[in-house]
Amino acid sequence: MLRLLGSGRSHPKSSGLSVLVKQMWGTLRSHPLRLERWCSQGPCVQRKRNDALHAFWKGPASVPGGARQSPINIRWKDSVYDPRLKPLRVSYDSAACLYVWNTGYLFQVEFDDSAEGSGISGGPLENHYRLKQFHFHWGAVNEWGSEHTVDDHVYPAELHLVHWNAVKYQNYTEAVMGEDGLAVVGVFLKLGAHHEALQKLVAVLPDIKHKDARAALGPFQPSCLLPACQDYWTYPGSLTTPPLSESVTWIIHKKPTEVAQDQH
Ligand SMILES: [Zn+2]
Repeated sequence: MLRLLGSGRSHPKSSGLSVLVKQMWGTLRSHPLRLERWCSQGPCVQRKRNDALHAFWKGPASVPGGARQSPINIRWKDSVYDPRLKPLRVSYDSAACLYVWNTGYLFQVEFDDSAEGSGISGGPLENHYRLKQFHFHWGAVNEWGSEHTVDDHVYPAELHLVHWNAVKYQNYTEAVMGEDGLAVVGVFLKLGAHHEALQKLVAVLPDIKHKDARAALGPFQPSCLLPACQDYWTYPGSLTTPPLSESVTWIIHKKPTEVAQDQH
């Protein structure tokens, strides 16, 4: 596995917007979602691209103070093979899936995190981290898609699976602010084969057109969304909204997951 040395702000360039992204966004376009505002999730906001769009980032408080701010542009030349990094152990309980809801910014799938049963360990992590939720970022316009970039390449979309350290912290809220509090697995999406699990998700989106609307999803196995190849990059990163806490261990899969063009 590869460990990233150093980090810099991503400078995404325009890329062709996938049909999938258009179709998924088309489903949500009538919703009160505004991608020009940031994602409500701490670890994953397109701050760089939205500096000029939201007052929250204007003024002195908007200047990041830390040295491990996310997201980043992953550079192959800055990554080094670390033999101490073992494969990530993933064990998700499909029955822990609670529901999918419209956050007002994107749709998010929530999981029961009251027990240790569903989560990740190994890899760069010293503890077990429980799965809290996952969500997708995709572009509303051509310039936007994945949050992380790879050698300046922007993928059409990026999945984030958000986990918290239940060994060190009592709950997710505490973990967000704490050292080694969060671990977020990032997966790029690209066009390719039909993806059945994603189809199940997209099918319920018409039921959650309005902010805070939620719908049952039934048992759902998130590991279906991971690529077969387990290779990853890892780096210590941050929340991307104030307080910009540097509590996130990012684990970014090198291979994207393929989804079909005709899924809608
Ligand atoms: Zn995110």
